[in-house]
Amino acid sequence: MESSAAPTVSAGHDPGPAPVDLLRRLRARGAGDPVTHVERVPARVGVPAPWPAWAPPELRAAFARRGVVAPWQHQAEAATLAYDGGHVIVATGTASGKSLAYQLPALATLLADPRATVLYLAPTKALAADQLRAVAGLELEGVRPACYDGDTPRAEREWIRRHSRFVLTNPDMLHHGILPGHAQWSGFLRRLAYVVIDECHTYRGVFGSHVAHVLRRLRRQCARFGATPVFVLASATSGDPATAAGRLTGLPVTAVTEDASPRGGVTFALWEPPLLPPDSTAPTVPAQAAGDHDATTDLVQVRRSALRETADLLADTVAEGVRTLAFVRSRKGAEVVAANARRALDDAVPGLGGRVAAYRGGYLREERRELERALLHGDLLGLASTNALELGVDLVGLDAVLICGYPGTRASLWQQAGRAGRSGQEALAVLVARDDPLDTYLVHHPEAIFGAPVEATVLDPANPYVLAPQLACAAAEAPLTPADLALFGDGAKEAIDQLVEAGALRQRPTGWYWRHRERPEVDLRGEGGAPVCVVESATGRLLGTVDGGSSHFLLHPGAVYLHQGISYVVDDLDLADGCALVHVEEPDWSTHARDVTDLSVVSVRSYVDAGPVGMFLGEVDVTSQVVSYQRRRIATGEVIDTRPLDLPTRELRTVAVWFTLSPRSLASAGVQQADVPGALHAAEHAAIGLLPLMATCDRWDIGGLSTALHPDTEAPTVFVYDGHPGGAGFAERAYGTASAWLRATRDAIAECGCETGCPSCVQSPKCGNGNNPLSKPDAIRVLDVVLENLPA
Ligand SMILES: [Zn+2]
Ligand SMILES: [Zn+2]
Repeated sequence: MESSAAPTVSAGHDPGPAPVDLLRRLRARGAGDPVTHVERVPARVGVPAPWPAWAPPELRAAFARRGVVAPWQHQAEAATLAYDGGHVIVATGTASGKSLAYQLPALATLLADPRATVLYLAPTKALAADQLRAVAGLELEGVRPACYDGDTPRAEREWIRRHSRFVLTNPDMLHHGILPGHAQWSGFLRRLAYVVIDECHTYRGVFGSHVAHVLRRLRRQCARFGATPVFVLASATSGDPATAAGRLTGLPVTAVTEDASPRGGVTFALWEPPLLPPDSTAPTVPAQAAGDHDATTDLVQVRRSALRETADLLADTVAEGVRTLAFVRSRKGAEVVAANARRALDDAVPGLGGRVAAYRGGYLREERRELERALLHGDLLGLASTNALELGVDLVGLDAVLICGYPGTRASLWQQAGRAGRSGQEALAVLVARDDPLDTYLVHHPEAIFGAPVEATVLDPANPYVLAPQLACAAAEAPLTPADLALFGDGAKEAIDQLVEAGALRQRPTGWYWRHRERPEVDLRGEGGAPVCVVESATGRLLGTVDGGSSHFLLHPGAVYLHQGISYVVDDLDLADGCALVHVEEPDWSTHARDVTDLSVVSVRSYVDAGPVGMFLGEVDVTSQVVSYQRRRIATGEVIDTRPLDLPTRELRTVAVWFTLSPRSLASAGVQQADVPGALHAAEHAAIGLLPLMATCDRWDIGGLSTALHPDTEAPTVFVYDGHPGGAGFAERAYGTASAWLRATRDAIAECGCETGCPSCVQSPKCGNGNNPLSKPDAIRVLDVVLENLPA
């Protein structure tokens, strides 16, 4: 933390100006008005419900001791659904008390039936430990809650298996420890009444697909012992939570989504940094600092950077005496914001800059406490942080929150905005848009933020790259029988046949048997090739890992690789060893890998024939090779040179969504023949940028390809594919919401104020073709043709 200089602004608890007045002053500073929308999120009065009649008095008394006098309406509703034996998901806002919704039915059952057990799953050990404290704090007789994870001492494990009736663990431990050891767990599983899945929106993509099968394996073991537990899930708000929970568990699930908890009022502004004059050579802050990915991207900016804008806002609010927290996506970005704000403040009033600090994560507990204390007492007024702050720092009494760039999901957005507002006081939240099509869309479409959520948590349990290894695990736990096929869903029989053919399973009259002595090795989180280690040559220090899929792009020889804000240059990429050797160096250029991608259609799963337009979902083979890289000056974006690379081609069988247009329809929409490639390419980039609006993915989870004539479709075509072997559900979600998705894409391009395309609309930081060719006006024409023909 920065030491604080002599305070020149009154410390103490003066809340500063009202949010509305503060916002008026902030937006009056520049030339134009950067605010595209102001939403008044009114304070909400909580709606309490009576304790359900089935909740035993001792449980009510235990909650009352903890300060819960009555449940909120949504808690009571979800709890009663679960107590009556229905599978339920409660999907409401941060701090809406979701835990009571599952604690109530689970603990009531444990009290009523002295033999019953509960299994609680959290995505992290820390959350499980939190929940353990909460349940243990109720001091209920005979529940004996306990965490069972990788840190649990061997000596305690047996006691927990035998005596705990409320076991808290995580999906990895369930997969690696509990299910393979089911014989030792039979007593617990036989009596299992509830399975609680907390923060279940984190189980998405390939990881989510694996967890879905771990839960099916759990249900199979329970069924063998005669138990059919009720599943209670808790999730952040998302689009269609019942469907996502149904896919995760394989069971019909009822959703409770009406949040009845109280909250303070927030004035929420959407802020779009202004466009810079066309001849400006402004980019002194490389765009890479604003990204959340270590790829180097320094496209020529035409908008003022979100980092600079956030730094100015932070300086302005601090000068007003307003306690402000700025969330920035990267650690380097947080440091840039704090440094710029400090400089601006010191220019105004020497010493005032000392009231601003950067929070970099990794602080010791005492340092965090010191930071909390300084903010609470007003020694510190402004803090720039990555979302690492969400873990472990308890900040209260903030008046304003600045969010630099959309954090990816509405859940994170509200979590960050929710930091503002001391008890009952109105607070200010500002979302500063980054140079990105999704951010551009959101600041012009406030309904996508403040209306009903559309982004859904997607996963695809039918992915054969997930299904086959999971079936191997299931067979190792107990032979598979034909009766199990329905449990594991579509594709299970084909996957089993392949495992038999590969010699992993043996078919006998009684079922399919795992043939080996050792259990199959399946990592729930590792897919897309083994990760590549990044090692500093001089010291042998392991800096981190990059997933196999990105390694050719990020770690080719000569690549500038950023790690936690420090710049390295790659000396060698050893693919056989899965290791890249790097040294510290900060050249004044960045590197941009170029690749050649080929795509062929393997099969079509589903399609819509819409006259001149076709929309398809199917399997594809993607072959790609990183062939060269460009070096570009960071300050100007000028290309220094292009250097060849010698890396092998890679193949990916995955799921894609694609659309075709007839050449005639493009011509009559005014797209010249020569402009078709640029039109499709620009539409592809923006469509990839907007997909996170429909599904909780990152644009780095997705790839694309566009061509004026594809041999398999024989038409101008745009492909968007899942970047994970076998698909992760993103392309499928895109296909299912095609018209809404492409409508948002069209609007994002049309509403961007630039003339010929910029990173806020059609340029992509991960383009393998150096963003060439691109035609912004023709991309709008292409999407108009698609939308006119495609049924809504
Ligand atoms: Zn633009
Ligand atoms: Zn591209």
